Order: sequence, then structure tokens, then C-alpha cells
Amino acid sequence: MRITIDRDRCIGAGQCVLLAPRVFTQDDDGLVELLPGHQEAAGDARVRDVPTACPVQAVEIDED
Ligand code: SF4
Repeated sequence: MRITIDRDRCIGAGQCVLLAPRVFTQDDDGLVELLPGHQEAAGDARVRDVPTACPVQAVEIDED
């Protein structure tokens, strides 16, 4: 699975962090960042819900 974030789109809504706190975090400006080791957590149950939960389509998931 490959997770792609678009920080230019992100508005800091935080849905990604709520759903998958081992994969996503927010920087001091509230913008999404991938956590170190996010690949190991990418199988978490709710990771796949993030692209539709993000209000600005800033997260994409591609299945390998
Ligand atoms: S849910 Fe979308 S807009 Fe909100 S912090 Fe995550 S990537 Fe940014």
C-alpha cells in the first residue's frame, strides 16, 4: 500500500489523524504529515477510510 499526502491541499481538518493516529500527524501549522514508520501501521483498520474522510481529498491510497 502506498499512501500519498498533498500538503498544498490540506486544510488541517484532522480527520486523518483521528482515523489513523499511527500513520498521520499534523505539524505546527496543522498540516498533515506521515509519521516515521507509517508503512508498518498502514494495515490499520481505518486507514482506508481516510481518503473519503478528508474533506479536501488530500490523501490518496494506492494498493500495491
Ligand atoms: S483530513 Fe485531510 S485536510 Fe484534514 S489534516 Fe488530514 S489531510 Fe489535512
